[in-house]
Amino acid sequence: MFDNIQKKLAKAFKSLKGQGKLSEKNIKDAVRTVKMSLLEADVNYKVVKEFIEKVREKALGKEVLESLTPDQEFIRIVRDELIELMGGNEKPKLNISKRPGYIMLVGLQGSGKTTHAAKLANYFKKQGKAPLLVAADTYRPAAIDQLVQLGDQIGVPVFTGDRKNAVKIVKEAMNYAEKLLHDIVILDTAGRLHIDEQMMQELEEIKKIAQPEEILMVVDAMIGQDAVNSAKEFNNRLELDGFIVTKLDGDARGGVIISIRQITQKPVKFVGIGEKVNDLELFYPERYASRILGMGDVLSLIEKVESEIDKEKAEESANKFLEGKFDLNDFLEQIKQIRKLGPLSKILEMIPGVPKEGIDVNKSEAELKKIEAIINSMTKDERKKPRILNYSRKQRIAKGSGTTLQDINKLIKSYEQMKKMMKQVKKMKNKKSLFGKMP
Ligand code: GDP
Repeated sequence: MFDNIQKKLAKAFKSLKGQGKLSEKNIKDAVRTVKMSLLEADVNYKVVKEFIEKVREKALGKEVLESLTPDQEFIRIVRDELIELMGGNEKPKLNISKRPGYIMLVGLQGSGKTTHAAKLANYFKKQGKAPLLVAADTYRPAAIDQLVQLGDQIGVPVFTGDRKNAVKIVKEAMNYAEKLLHDIVILDTAGRLHIDEQMMQELEEIKKIAQPEEILMVVDAMIGQDAVNSAKEFNNRLELDGFIVTKLDGDARGGVIISIRQITQKPVKFVGIGEKVNDLELFYPERYASRILGMGDVLSLIEKVESEIDKEKAEESANKFLEGKFDLNDFLEQIKQIRKLGPLSKILEMIPGVPKEGIDVNKSEAELKKIEAIINSMTKDERKKPRILNYSRKQRIAKGSGTTLQDINKLIKSYEQMKKMMKQVKKMKNKKSLFGKMP
């Protein structure tokens, strides 16, 4: 996501490393590199200018010039200012106090409103809430069917009404939501390719009727600078409560997050990082600053693991592992759990200090898929007792999984190694308890 900006910033920091004390020129050069990297990441020019002023002033201060680790001081300053730019230490929060609470999504066509209506519904459902989706985008022909389909997928009802009159649909949906005791109502509204008076009037009318506590504008990070202008207009007309910035998984340069916050002074509350319903993250300025600077984001990773991974299953396989009963079924289960977290590239991005250059993510991803295919082609017995795998069984599995005998032998070898390791762990555990009993 932030590859380019990361590389540039790394260069700026590196130029200061190991220099002992710094000269003003060193710092000015580093500040310049930071400036270029932000501009290239699509951050609005005015915003960059102010940011750079602050960084330069602080960096030329005594603390950096006289510090024994000036590069680290400099990174700290850039990081602190970046956090400030993106909203300081505020926690992302939706202010829903009414029951039902209304969230209205607005934005240009194609920004990801419909997708994110479903992602939000899924997010609330996971918290044990009873959300209702309302399909009030009567302008884009496929939007309503798309929402119905997504609703089906996540098990959240979708109110479609007459599929024609958005204002009427919202009114009826409000009655429906109260009757069926929904606690959160998410309104998907119509966008246009460009800002348009008719659209704005419709949105204003829906706002008046539903009085949403949260009006969130969905902004496509890929459209760069244009996003800032439309955010400004939407905010002027509708008084937004915040933003959802989408498509940050692609080649988007991420600068949009910084610009819209600065220009509108409204917070980014969520970010969309993929097309699937789980690809939604709360936005924490601090964590994003770390990610931009290539310092990883372990907290988001832990949150992801906690929400996606089935804890009981994880514990079960850990226990099996320690008891030496870990078979290929468990192996497969573990791979499935890891894959739930999303593509490996995204996971690695969140781990600090993982050098992306050294790892061929596509290759590792392909390896995982291969292992999954091989185990899936085995019978129950074979998964439990891999030692029964003779030549003809292996041949059958290779055919079934589209792999080779070598692939299968490799998998069995790693499994055997794992078993050996388990035995050692077990031995160590026993020894420990033996010592534990000594006076
Ligand atoms: P709408 O017109 O605003 O309702 O936009 P949609 O929800 O239909 O989204 C437009 C396209 O963007 C669809 O193909 C979505 O799958 C895709 N999309 C939405 N959010 C994301 C995201 O966070 N990442 C990626 N890669 N694609 C997204």
